[in-house]
Amino acid sequence: MAILEPAPIIDKENPLESMMERFNSAAEILGLDAQTYNVLKSPARQHIVSLPVTMDNGEVRVFEGIRVIHSTILGPSKGGIRFDPGVNLDEVRALAAWMTWKCAVVDIPYGGAKGGVACDPRQMSRGEVERLMRAYTRSMLDVFGPDRDIPAPDMGTGPEEMAWLMDAYSRAKGMTVHAVVTGKPIVLGGSLGRVEATGRGVMVSTMAAMEKLKVNPIQATCAVQGFGNVGSNAAKLLEERGVKVLAISDITGAYYNESGIDIQKAISYKEGNRGTLDGFKEATKIPNEELLTLPVDVLVPAAMEDVITGKNAHQIKARMIIEGANGPTSAKADSIINEKGILVAPDILANAGGVTVSYFEWVQNRLGYKWSKDRVHRRMDKIIRDSFEKVYRTSIEHKVSMRIAAYIVAIDKVAKTFKFRGGY
Ligand code: GLU
Repeated sequence: MAILEPAPIIDKENPLESMMERFNSAAEILGLDAQTYNVLKSPARQHIVSLPVTMDNGEVRVFEGIRVIHSTILGPSKGGIRFDPGVNLDEVRALAAWMTWKCAVVDIPYGGAKGGVACDPRQMSRGEVERLMRAYTRSMLDVFGPDRDIPAPDMGTGPEEMAWLMDAYSRAKGMTVHAVVTGKPIVLGGSLGRVEATGRGVMVSTMAAMEKLKVNPIQATCAVQGFGNVGSNAAKLLEERGVKVLAISDITGAYYNESGIDIQKAISYKEGNRGTLDGFKEATKIPNEELLTLPVDVLVPAAMEDVITGKNAHQIKARMIIEGANGPTSAKADSIINEKGILVAPDILANAGGVTVSYFEWVQNRLGYKWSKDRVHRRMDKIIRDSFEKVYRTSIEHKVSMRIAAYIVAIDKVAKTFKFRGGY
């Protein structure tokens, strides 16, 4: 008999509550009317499906697939698909809303969505992951679409998963539909520069933050939590600009070297070590929590939600926090961080490089044309820099943190657009 996979209970602050707290603060400052407030806070649609998948041993397991469309006010909804044991409806709802605000902050014509399946891809074979992704796509055929809802990679998924999604969707529709998903392999219509885009946006945000605080990159130090796609690319690009990366981490632990870690060496080590830093000898192993409280100039949380909380925010010594992950700081930590005068480039700004290049990929697919990597980088860098400036100026104008300023910029844009589109 097929048994529904139980969603694991994870002890963390609720990301949906954290998102709503910031949303409420910004809505109040903007003087948002009650009707618009209610429209913007409610997810437009929430899909929950059961996905029976035949595992390699012949057993059928049923996974729960979620897709939340938070908003389509600015355009078709956009957002990644997460394969992770911690996936649950509240988390996906928060992540979907963050996509709405993120697209609005960087001014790209998309609404926000997010999808996920509670599963552990590390414990599954590639064939099992492929069948799960194809089953998920099949059940979302009426949800996805190049003008409806456009998925992308997130934690636990990458270009290969997007290729399966694109293929499954195209087969069902009886034609090749490149623009239904972004983050695809290059040969399948993916964009040059997409893989490193989120990490690159983190680097561009760091450089902008350093300019504001008059920190010279060549004399600066940094700690990066998470060494997946975002963390490893951010670390590499920061190192290329002269920043000394003193610590990196992944699920196996944190690795510290006071004279700086050679990031290329760490990336090559991870690639030859089944994807983890376990046993990395170029640095000393330290507890994961210690990385967050190191005396560095820049802290880049690029792993997951709620790692900087009311419990550890007091101990943070970095001068700036550049959020590579979505929701790494809980709302409870915000006031502590603000009191300490730490400059935070919030997630919906700092990690928006990924969705920005996703937008470029979608544009290229629709044009049937390919941009050079240089063009992608230049255009993305400009969008992140300009958005940083806008958020920074808003924070000065309203005397609020960069985070609340980013929500103000985003909510203002969506609210104004909604006024023109109207309801029924
Ligand atoms: N999952 C990424 C994010 O959280 C990318 C989303 C996209 O490219 O649509 O921003």
